[in-house]
Amino acid sequence: MIVIMKPRCSEENLEHVVRLLGEMGTEPCVINNSGQKVVEVLGKSDRLDSHRLESVPMVERVLENAEPILAANRRPGDRTCEVPLGAHATVGGKKLAVIAGPCSVETQSQLMEIAAAAKEAGAVALRGGAFKPRTSPYSFQGLGERGLEMLALAREETGLAIVTEVMHGELVDLVAKYADVLQVGSRNMHNSHLLLAVGRQSKPVLLKRGWSATLDEFLQAAEYVMQGGNRNVILCERGIRTHETYVRNTLALAVVPEIKLRSTLPIIVDPSHGTGRGPLVAPMSNAAVACGADGLLIEVHRAPDQAWSDGGQSLDPDQFHALMQGLRPIAQACGREL
Ligand code: PEP
Ligand code: MN
Repeated sequence: MIVIMKPRCSEENLEHVVRLLGEMGTEPCVINNSGQKVVEVLGKSDRLDSHRLESVPMVERVLENAEPILAANRRPGDRTCEVPLGAHATVGGKKLAVIAGPCSVETQSQLMEIAAAAKEAGAVALRGGAFKPRTSPYSFQGLGERGLEMLALAREETGLAIVTEVMHGELVDLVAKYADVLQVGSRNMHNSHLLLAVGRQSKPVLLKRGWSATLDEFLQAAEYVMQGGNRNVILCERGIRTHETYVRNTLALAVVPEIKLRSTLPIIVDPSHGTGRGPLVAPMSNAAVACGADGLLIEVHRAPDQAWSDGGQSLDPDQFHALMQGLRPIAQACGREL
């Protein structure tokens, strides 16, 4: 529910409404919506009485089933925001942004070879994890700062923007020193401390959907980042956990057109984690672009069978090249460039 106050309402009027809503058993939240004071009511309560609220003199209107107010809500006529990907590319405009690279940064030569192949095939940014969130504590956890240095060198060589994950609020400054875009992974989508921390720095943030998060929770997580002052958020659908076993995750592509209805944030798709299987990556990339995605995040490795993480879902450079070639006519048919 949203309570819209009259333009002349004073702080006391506002406090009165907030107190009343508190007494009705809800959590009110005051929002200054372009100068107009509104109170958003979070949660539900049997004691919530909209007629009583409407009778308060400085209340203009009570909207019972309003969508939550989010900084990135799309209003009619709004365009998708264009978020910079380093100095030479953006995501959210006409041109699709393809971000490619290994799951983990392993060695400098591995990274250089993949970066060169990714660039040659048309990627605009290089992905690679230096801090890896792994399910098992015995799996490779990433090279840490050494991996970040390797990524920075790959940017120098290729001009590709660098996208890499940050796992803790304490590491934000370090990762932001090297990266062009900070990735917040699926496991951390609910970590509000981290979301606020990446929101307080100026590098764009690639926010992956939690694998059990609803779309509303995903959008609220983006809101946390924007609360910190950083409006450059790129959403990334990477699949959700379902009862299905033939794939690692179920790639929920319907969120792409739904996000286009609700939000001005760009949305990209990660078909690598979204399927967990190399042969499914190209077809699902095609589908993602066809349903309106602004870009793709794809794992590429020079020798997937030797990858230190996520080899089974990684493409080799030739497969990635073929994927990009296959994507071009689809992009064109959708009015996009690649
Ligand atoms: C990754 O991008 O390598 C990664 C760990 O992704 P996710 O957070 O989606 O699992
Ligand atoms: Mn991975």
